[in-house]
Amino acid sequence: MEASRRRTAARCACRRRRVTLRAVRDSDPSPSAPSDLGLTVDRRQLPDGRYLLLYGDAGQAPTEGTPGREGGGGSRSEGAGRTGADGTEQPPGGDASRDDPPGSRLRRDPALDEWVIVAPHRQDRTYRPPPERCPFCPTRPDGEPTEIPVPAFEIAVFENRFPGLSPGAASSGDGTPPDPPALFETAPGRGQGEVVVYTPHHEGSLGALPLEKVERLVRVWTHRYRELGVRPYVRNVFIFENRGEAIGVTLEHPHGQIYGHPLVPPVPARMLEVEARHHRRTGRCLRCDIVAGEMESGDRVIRSSGTVLTHVPFAPRWPYEAHIATRPHRASLLDLRPAERLELAAALKSLLESYDRLFGRPMPYVLAVMQAPTAATPGPGSHLRIEVYPALRAPDRLKHRAGSETAMGLTVTDVLPETAAGRLRELAQ
Ligand SMILES: [Zn+2]
Ligand SMILES: [Zn+2]
Repeated sequence: MEASRRRTAARCACRRRRVTLRAVRDSDPSPSAPSDLGLTVDRRQLPDGRYLLLYGDAGQAPTEGTPGREGGGGSRSEGAGRTGADGTEQPPGGDASRDDPPGSRLRRDPALDEWVIVAPHRQDRTYRPPPERCPFCPTRPDGEPTEIPVPAFEIAVFENRFPGLSPGAASSGDGTPPDPPALFETAPGRGQGEVVVYTPHHEGSLGALPLEKVERLVRVWTHRYRELGVRPYVRNVFIFENRGEAIGVTLEHPHGQIYGHPLVPPVPARMLEVEARHHRRTGRCLRCDIVAGEMESGDRVIRSSGTVLTHVPFAPRWPYEAHIATRPHRASLLDLRPAERLELAAALKSLLESYDRLFGRPMPYVLAVMQAPTAATPGPGSHLRIEVYPALRAPDRLKHRAGSETAMGLTVTDVLPETAAGRLRELAQ
């Protein structure tokens, strides 16, 4: 308890300090160079050792106040080690000098054979600060340093201050559980937690961003998927957004998150099994068949373009749940052609705008990018899609995952999926 208090105090003192950002120099070409995605990245290190990445478009003049951008293949891979603040080489993704949060562990639920992240330090995270104290805004001249201590940026990615998983959570082991499993089994909470700040502007939302900025975000997601995916302790890269107080969001500034998991989590693991079974039986990708079936039926289609389909699933778990899938088979963001990436961004923007129009208020939601785990070569059934789970079933009514859903895992959906699709189709632009 005392140690925890001291750590919290140290963090607070750190935040009040005048910050001098160190530019992390690195010129090794690597497979994770962002230039093929039309991106530049300016890699920095925050005073507490966490990394900060400032993304921009290649060819664009550097934003005032963000000097030292690298581009044109000058990036490096954190997976291959990095240079620390003192110039020494650090282990992949880790930093020996870091004050990593204590107690982040994985525990296996022996009844379900499913892993749970236990991260009690997350209780201390910042809770709904006033806008003038927002940690995700650029640092104002003469203002307190924020998480992004530069006066301007386009898209910023940095290590989560309160991660559920962290690269330094264990100094030994790779997070692979022993076989056979013990009854009360734990594993290191090793992985990566990142925050993706979509815009320097405090107000707004992902859906309200101009299309070219949504498309740029998809490129940044692609780069993060590739860069985190090569780390030896990351087996699954999960890109997501929680939006709205109803979902438990503690900071309003438009942002999402990324987890680099040390294992394939329960839901995608189950999907991989089902997809593999379908492929063994039919020789085809399950999601390709679902997309073709939805296109043929049309009853649940919200929007379709040449290569991207937005639809309500046949058996949704949320009243207005929708999935955006590529029509051709694409295992991950890495497989997208530039035109497909633009269509995916357009479909995402359209859907999120429709949600805000549905009840005339910002829709709280969970957005999940579902794609192939990075642990191995993608299986034949891994198929890229963005799933969105909106939390409202009526203008003033939340859909709660209550007794049946929480205890039994059996969802009761309040809206006919075909009706939901019809309403969202009318609202789509
Ligand atoms: Zn802000
Ligand atoms: Zn497919």
